[in-house]
Amino acid sequence: MEHVVKIAEILRDATHSIAFTGAGISTESNIPDFRGSQGLWKKFDPRMASRSYFEEDPKGFWSFYAMRYNSIAGAEPNDGHAALAELERRGYIDLIITQNIDTLHTKAGSKSVIELHGNIIWSRCDLCSVERRTIECIEELERSGRPPTCKSCGGLMRPSVVLFEEPVRLMEAAMDVACRSDCCLVVGSSLTVYPAALVPEVVKGQGGALVIINMDPTPLDDRADVVIRDKASVVLKKLIEALS
Ligand code: NAD
Repeated sequence: MEHVVKIAEILRDATHSIAFTGAGISTESNIPDFRGSQGLWKKFDPRMASRSYFEEDPKGFWSFYAMRYNSIAGAEPNDGHAALAELERRGYIDLIITQNIDTLHTKAGSKSVIELHGNIIWSRCDLCSVERRTIECIEELERSGRPPTCKSCGGLMRPSVVLFEEPVRLMEAAMDVACRSDCCLVVGSSLTVYPAALVPEVVKGQGGALVIINMDPTPLDDRADVVIRDKASVVLKKLIEALS
């Protein structure tokens, strides 16, 4: 609790705080992360989420994304997402920068969210960018046994998420926010995926406060003002109490 009180003090003192979230905030909604103890990379090759795998084996790629979609589609926000939405409502954080593709922050009521890596609910044509719902693409895959294609130009569809080996288009917007922030609350991220992990580094590098709530150690722990290795939902619920 002592650490949570410290986080509450940091949030009260800061003028522009942001939250930076990763897959770990959604494991309690039964969506597996990549690198945690039950992470997807314990069972699958990380290449399956890459641009080169999409080009080489679009059907195998779509089967992997259909499996990810199914774990995400029925998921509901948990107490951690709800607490972050509450922090925004009460004016303690300005915005969430998330690496997650599951849309659970907006489902929980957060208004200002940058989805750095896109979201899995929508897909787009890889050639002409026309959009379709991912669920329709998966139904087409299951019906035809072939990767889904664009109704307009016949190009291959792909989920509207950033794949490994692709640029992160929203990084500039995220960096603008980071440069204006004096506190970053990291929740459920291994802080190993770049360029996303630059966000907390930038806030800390310009003299801001850095708080890390994550089950496993991260490369930024040594530079953080507070580190808590516990479940995101538990810590964030206590934080709301400490601020009440
Ligand atoms: P990561 O898998 O690299 O790290 C997740 C971290 O969360 C781990 O260090 C783990 O210890 C921690 N964690 C797990 N459960 C936790 C809990 N209940 N409370 C606190 N910490 C917990 O994930 P990352 O850092 O977000 O980066 C990897 C990539 O994962 C991102 O690009 C993101 O797009 C993608 N991803 C997203 C989802 C999703 O949308 N839910 C799921 C899997 C992967």
